[in-house]
Amino acid sequence: MPAKELQLDQAACAECGLCVAVCGYDALVLHATELEVIQSECVLCDACVIACPTEALTIE
Ligand code: SF4
Ligand code: SF4
Repeated sequence: MPAKELQLDQAACAECGLCVAVCGYDALVLHATELEVIQSECVLCDACVIACPTEALTIE
């Protein structure tokens, strides 16, 4: 079974930056028009998933 990772639904993302603010691992970067997930930094702590108001982030 492949390892789980943080999945981003770009279409659902409102680029609000809340997930970036709660991530303590610098695994999320908000660019001008899109959010980037840096998988190598993500420890799957779930903080951004909980913080996201649009359910754009999931761990699968
Ligand atoms: S799961 Fe945790 S470490 Fe990974 S991007 Fe979200 S807040 Fe950051
Ligand atoms: S919290 Fe959700 S809607 Fe806001 S930037 Fe992050 S993924 Fe996008």
